[in-house]
Amino acid sequence: DHTLGECVFYDNRFMQSLRQEHELTALFQGALDRGEFLVYLQPKVRLSDGKTAGAEALVRWRNPQRGMIFPSDFIPVLEKNGSICKLDRYIFEKVCELLARRMQEGKAIFPVSVNLSRQHFKDPDFLRQFSEIADKYHIPDGILELELTESIFFDDQGIEFVGKCIRRMHRLGFKCSLDDFGSGYSSLGLLREFDVDTIKLDRRFFLDISQPKAEDVLICLTELGRRLGVQIVAEGIEKQEQIAFLKRVRCDMVQGYFYSRPLPVEEFWEWLEKRQEGEGNQ
Ligand code: C2E
Ligand code: MG
Ligand code: MG
Ligand code: MG
Repeated sequence: DHTLGECVFYDNRFMQSLRQEHELTALFQGALDRGEFLVYLQPKVRLSDGKTAGAEALVRWRNPQRGMIFPSDFIPVLEKNGSICKLDRYIFEKVCELLARRMQEGKAIFPVSVNLSRQHFKDPDFLRQFSEIADKYHIPDGILELELTESIFFDDQGIEFVGKCIRRMHRLGFKCSLDDFGSGYSSLGLLREFDVDTIKLDRRFFLDISQPKAEDVLICLTELGRRLGVQIVAEGIEKQEQIAFLKRVRCDMVQGYFYSRPLPVEEFWEWLEKRQEGEGNQ
């Protein structure tokens, strides 16, 4: 029976995902303790001078049995069971650690952004913990950037609370960036109400740049950014045509495979040094 077959199919998948959820939940704390979660860094390149002016920290889970596990496979599970906050703090601390090491070596540092799950916004005091970690590693103000997605604005805590958090971030020396802008119900009203430092435009904006309206929309968004004093970062850029387009619309920064995939920290510094030798190379 066709229908029955379908039911069984879905049921199996459901069971499988549940098992996986249990498995991941059970594995998580041990994996954290064993250092299986790794920070990868992906550069952000400034288009006006071709300099690498920042990076985003992205988590990777390397498990001896299961190999490399990507965020899309475990972050939704960790968000459901609440562990994501622990992981985000861990990644944040690893980023502070790598920046502190860099400073000790006498090397220049630049802004590094870390992703924050919406789950943090259930705890009114979560920023204090982040600030204590940053202080412990003596990270200068303006170096650490927290990436939020617009979905937090529509959570239970409400818009006022998020506004408070953003002001508090600034007082604590963090920058604030609005991630995946344009991927959902992005409201321009958010930009009026909240002082974010950066808007990261979702890669969907750049998938079909030959579309007649694409250029006009981007010209207006980058102009809006300049007027508001907000930096505009284009995400998921893979092709030379996209770079040419982004220069035309005067976008500030670019992040994407075109420059580099997210890299393990040591490889990232090597990539950076090689690139700086040929400074300005696009
Ligand atoms: P995101 O914050 O929007 O990060 C950008 C994602 O786009 C990354 O996926 C990155 O590897 C990918 N990407 C970068 N350049 C390109 C490109 O040119 N083409 C394409 N197709 N993709 C590109 P990743 O690392 O798999 O992370 C996925 C999402 O998982 C992130 O999206 C973020 O929302 C979440 N995430 C990653 N690390 C963390 C973390 O430490 N904490 C939390 N809460 N979320 C995280
Ligand atoms: Mg991000
Ligand atoms: Mg501080
Ligand atoms: Mg994004």
